[in-house]
Amino acid sequence: MPPLEIYVHIPFCIKKCAYCDFLSAPSTAEEREAYVAALCREIESCGSRVEDFDVTSIFFGGGTPSLLDGAQMTRIMGKIRKNFRIAGDAEITVEMNPGTVTEDKLERYRQTGVNRLSIGLQSVHDDELKMLGRIHTYEEFLQSYRMARDAGFENINIDLISAIPGQSPRSWQEALETVAALKPEHISAYSLIIEPGTRFYEWYGEDDRRREAELPGEEEERQMYRLTAEVLGKTGYKRYEISNYARDGHECRHNLGYWDRVPYLGFGIGAASFFPESGGEPGKMTRFTNPETMQEYEESFQEKFKAPPLSTEEEMEEFMFLGLRKIDGISKEKFCGYFHVGIEEIYGEQIEKLISLELLEEDGDAIRLTERGIDVSNAVFVEFMF
Ligand code: SF4
Repeated sequence: MPPLEIYVHIPFCIKKCAYCDFLSAPSTAEEREAYVAALCREIESCGSRVEDFDVTSIFFGGGTPSLLDGAQMTRIMGKIRKNFRIAGDAEITVEMNPGTVTEDKLERYRQTGVNRLSIGLQSVHDDELKMLGRIHTYEEFLQSYRMARDAGFENINIDLISAIPGQSPRSWQEALETVAALKPEHISAYSLIIEPGTRFYEWYGEDDRRREAELPGEEEERQMYRLTAEVLGKTGYKRYEISNYARDGHECRHNLGYWDRVPYLGFGIGAASFFPESGGEPGKMTRFTNPETMQEYEESFQEKFKAPPLSTEEEMEEFMFLGLRKIDGISKEKFCGYFHVGIEEIYGEQIEKLISLELLEEDGDAIRLTERGIDVSNAVFVEFMF
């Protein structure tokens, strides 16, 4: 059976963080109940279209999925189990924010099959957490982390953010060392991006002088990126994607599937799906994003199965820029197997140029970013756009 991944979007947060442009907002208990009921209807509506797949991973992302209580999580997982075939070793992740879980809730999550937690910590320094608009302190994170370990979770990711306003490479190094000492199985370390529509954008978006004065500069950002690879490398973590590090065997299967273009179905407002075209040419894939308002969303459950196929050019672009995010890079053989044409025929010129600039390297069947290429990865990806 071909693999399928499931993403469930939970758009609720206690309070909006200053840097956040995700689809999330504060909610009432009634809104959460109504949303869970809608999610269950959406999952149920998939019918026989999903019967030929084995679900290899389920990811509850947000927002703050850990705002769902044990009964709500049990209902959603029950619906998924009833409507999909779940692989025995499926990775089932819930994103959680410090201060939003209890022992009882974590126990209920485990009973429903959740076997991985992804905790949004972002910084170990309380002044930085405050600057980011987070709802918790480092001490509160530690309590939640210990609670998760005591509840028996053996696969935990911790999220960190670098390039926070006022952050120095030294403070970032301390964050990395402190978190690595806790020995989570996985660490995601992203660099802050100031996105339109966020409070940070209001503060820094148009104000170059303020940006220069308060945000780490490009060179400092690179220094922090190198520090990440160095500190985590020394403490037993392997970088397997530009911003993701894992202990052996604990790479996030859900994310790897995304970069390897494994089909997925997204449930909930704003959730994206990548799924084979129904009744179309074998191998043709579609993409669909659910509407962001509740009313439109509830009327759109079937739309994800009617989306038009992606063009071959779009698929080739995605193959390149998603695959190259992985440190192992892309496989020339896989490209040929998928598109029935050699990668050199399509991208020979670009690959040659990027190799000569020492931004890409070729190693047998693999093509991957060099360290220099990682520094300017977006500029590399643009080269593969038609
Ligand atoms: S907790 Fe996450 S999703 Fe929620 S507002 Fe903060 S950054 Fe956004």
